[in-house]
Order: sequence, then structure tokens, then C-alpha cells
Amino acid sequence: MKTLGLIGGMSWESTAHYYARINQLVAGRLGGLHSARLLLYSVEFDELQKMQHADDWAGAARLLVDAAQRLERAGADGLVICANSMHIVAPQLEQAVRLPLIHIVDVTAQAVKQQGIRTLALLGTRFTMEKAFYRQRLEQRHGLRVLVPEEAERIALHRSIFAELCRGEVRPASRQAFFAVIARLAAAGAEGAILGCTEFTLFGADRGARIPLFDTTEIHARAAVEWALAAGD
Ligand code: GLU
Repeated sequence: MKTLGLIGGMSWESTAHYYARINQLVAGRLGGLHSARLLLYSVEFDELQKMQHADDWAGAARLLVDAAQRLERAGADGLVICANSMHIVAPQLEQAVRLPLIHIVDVTAQAVKQQGIRTLALLGTRFTMEKAFYRQRLEQRHGLRVLVPEEAERIALHRSIFAELCRGEVRPASRQAFFAVIARLAAAGAEGAILGCTEFTLFGADRGARIPLFDTTEIHARAAVEWALAAGD
């Protein structure tokens, strides 16, 4: 089994979920008392979120490159950035370390394509929904069509992530609004929805959603385990 290097703390609420799911999936595959071999570097989220909101992506890149280098020195075999937004600095990380990166967009796109879906709603932070890095990778590398929420919806989703979910708070009104955005985009032609924020897992499954939901935390954790357990190691 390879050693996974997790960059977490963005927020720790979702990292805790990654940690549990990765271990559960390894135990499910290998049985008994098996668990994942992993290293976790958890950032100080307030420091990072200030950089994100100040548009200081060079500073945010330095912070994550430092985390990746620490994981490389500590013996990780591969990297997992436990967030969607911070894949914005994936290119800088890939330049700075020799470790392979299990990219959240690629593994999510694979899961989408396996279901024969082409048009997707993308929900996440404003960074993920509005900046090119995420959407362009889905569109150009994977040939998918992406629909993003309207501005007022994007502002509300972003607020619920930082003001509630990243603090472990799940408000029924925010959950309802979240599923209402998905329903509206489904009516506008989305065949599936990417839950492109690792805290969205906290909203739980919606049995009423009429289109498939792609939970990036779950998909990413599964891909990391598949990679760590791949034959030949
Ligand atoms: N966990 C987040 C994500 O998946 C949001 C927090 C952040 O912007 O780092 O995008």
C-alpha cells in the first residue's frame, strides 16, 4: 500500500470526513484491522482563507507548496488536496514536488463520464464556480458542459460554506437553498450536479434530487484509496 499525503484543514470539517472515509474504504477492501497509510498536513485555515478572499493566490500557492514539500520529505508517495478551491494552485504544486497529484477534477469527471452525463451543474465556493481553473478543466480536458448558479445563488452558496459549513454548522434553510439551486439548474438542462466543495458532504444525501449528485469528497477519497492500493505496490 502506498502512503497518501493529505493536505487538509481547508476546512478541518471536511478533512475529518476524508480521514474517516479513506480508512473505512481501505478496511472495506482489505478487511479486518486494515487501515490507510497516510500523512496529513493540516493548514491554519484562517491564514489561508484571508489570502483566498484577498485574491492573494501567490501567497496561497506558497502555503500549499510548503505543505506539499513537507509531505514529500516525510515520505508521502502521492498528494491529495482535500478541497476543490485550492486545486487552483495544483500546477504550482506539481512543479514544486515530484509526487503525483490525485486531481479532484479529473477523478470527478471520470465518475461523471461513467454515467454517460455531459451537462453538469457546478456548485462550490465562488472561486470554484467563477474562476477558470475548475470549469475549464471539466470543459477542455473532459469535454463536459458546465452550468454555474446565478450570481445571487453563488453568493449565498459561498456564504453558507464559510459562515456555516466550515464551522460545522448545517442550517436547514441553507440546505434547502442548496437543493433548490440544484433543482433550478436541473430544470435548465443539467443532467447531474457536481458538489464541488468538500464541505457539501455535510448537507447529506437528498432523496428528492432528480439528477445524480457527484460528491467530490467521496469520489476523491475513493480515487485516493484505489490509487494507494493499486496492484504492483
Ligand atoms: N473545502 C472547500 C472546497 O472544497 C472550500 C474551502 C476553501 O475554499 O478552501 O473548495
